[in-house]
This record gives sequence, C-alpha cells and structure tokens, in this order.
Amino acid sequence: MELFHLKDNCYYLKGAVNIGLININDNAILIDTGIDKQTAKNMEKIIKSKSWQVTHIINTHAHADHFGGSQYLKESFQAKVLAPKVEGIIMEHPVYEPFYLFGGAHPINELKNKFLQGSPVNIDEYIEPGPINIYEKTLEIVALPGHTMGQIGILFEDILYLADAAFGPQVLNKHGIPYFVDIDLQLKTLDYLETLNCSYYLPAHGELVTNIKDLTKENRQYIYNIANKIREILPGTTVEILAKLLNSLKINVNNPGQYFLMQAATLAYISYLNNTREITWEITSNILKWKVNTQPEKYPAKTT
Ligand SMILES: [Zn+2]
Repeated sequence: MELFHLKDNCYYLKGAVNIGLININDNAILIDTGIDKQTAKNMEKIIKSKSWQVTHIINTHAHADHFGGSQYLKESFQAKVLAPKVEGIIMEHPVYEPFYLFGGAHPINELKNKFLQGSPVNIDEYIEPGPINIYEKTLEIVALPGHTMGQIGILFEDILYLADAAFGPQVLNKHGIPYFVDIDLQLKTLDYLETLNCSYYLPAHGELVTNIKDLTKENRQYIYNIANKIREILPGTTVEILAKLLNSLKINVNNPGQYFLMQAATLAYISYLNNTREITWEITSNILKWKVNTQPEKYPAKTT
C-alpha cells in the first residue's frame, strides 16, 4: 500500500482497494478501510509515519473489502465512523451479506469468510447524501446506488472518490459479471457521474481517472453486453442462464462464494429485464424459467 497526493488536501492509499484520504491540518478523514485488520495496520503505519491522526472514517458501502478494517482503525485512533444507514446496518451485522447471497437462508460456512463477511463495525453516525461539515470544510456526500442499495461517494475539492460506482476496464474483465444489485439504478449512476466535472475520479478498484466519460462508457457498454448475452441465452432457469453466461465470458468459477456473487449479479439483470417487461417467467413442473415476454400487456407493468 502506498500513499499518493492528488491535490490540495486530497490523497489516496493505492492498494487492492484504493482508500481515500482527506487531510485537514493533520487530521485525516478516511474513505473506506480495506478488507481486514492487517490491511488496517498497514494503513495505520503509513498514517502515523506522517504524524496524522485519523478522526473520521466514512464508509461508502457494506462490502467486506471496504469496511473490514474500520473497527480496528476506529479503536486505534478513537475515530468516528460514518456510513449511509442502509449500508451501516449491514456493517453492524455483517452476517447479512452471506445471508442475502445465500437467498436469505442461513449461509453455508464457505460463505462466511473475510471476503463476504467483514468484522462488525460500531457506526457513530448514519449519513445521508448532501453536504457534511468537518473541520470547517464541506464534503459532499453523493448517492451512487446500483452496486449496492445505498452506496455513496465523496466529492471534495473537485475530486470524486467514487467507491464501486464504476470499475476500471481490467477489473470489469477480471470480474466477468461485475457485482451490481440494481441495473436501472446503476445506469442512472453512470449518467450522474457524467454530469460532474472533476479533476480526478478515484474508483476503489482500478486506476485513477481524469476523463470520467471513458470510464462510464466502458461500464455502460459492459452492462449492455451482459444484458444482450442474457437475451441470447433465453429461455432458461437462473442456474442455466448463469452457467451459459459464465461460459460465454470464459469465467471458471471455483468456489461457492464466487458462484453466489455471480448468481446475485445475474439476478440483478433478470430483475431489470423482468421489471421493464422485456422478459417474463413460466413455471412448469415446479421449474421456473425466464423467457422473452411476447405478451407484455398480460404481465403487470413496472410499479414504483
Ligand atoms: Zn463493493
């Protein structure tokens, strides 16, 4: 992990997850904390070597690789932890993540690992999108839903720390089916990102970006490509669609954690296509299959 200065008060720690850091008179505000105590200890060492004091931790969303180090750093620096409510509740009860990935049932032990179930965090304050003031500076909390329900980014001094609202091209290809829970909201988030005019945009996974439109274009195209592949695969059960989709992306899943993440990501597309009435379902002999909706008038319209 290495510390980079962006401009003025803005820094980041480059690593498996890029961590945002805003330094105001030697008081550091962290944006996410990495996956575990060891990562947090590495961060602590770098921050202490600068004689900075972490006073605030802002967590963008409840994925273990983003908040797993929060409780350690909170206790080590006596820092205050802030998170959006819907994400904070999961961070306080991290078993929810393997639970929801396993269809809402008590998960198999293989899903209870540090990648899918971070260490619990005591949240000090739930935050909403909008301005927050820290040390007489105003940070803008921006809503970036789609990757998770309540993900936020931090906009400060024309730099956007955008969490997992968009992925670098290599990360997209590596993930195969990048994790989005709501495709409609994700596309809207990409539209929103294009309205900004920042000097730098920092995705949590991937390289620092100066031209957001290159990144959003790649992400939008990637989403459209997966939706198209699903259209070509139909009809099929969720399991069949997932297998064919992974094969066409040349992804070989080799553990249940990865499988259930990919399944959830695929279901987000199915939900999106169903709710826009492009596809529908059919249950025969207790097998639910997704198929092209040839009679959209027969099925209920999307409700809000
Ligand atoms: Zn994430």
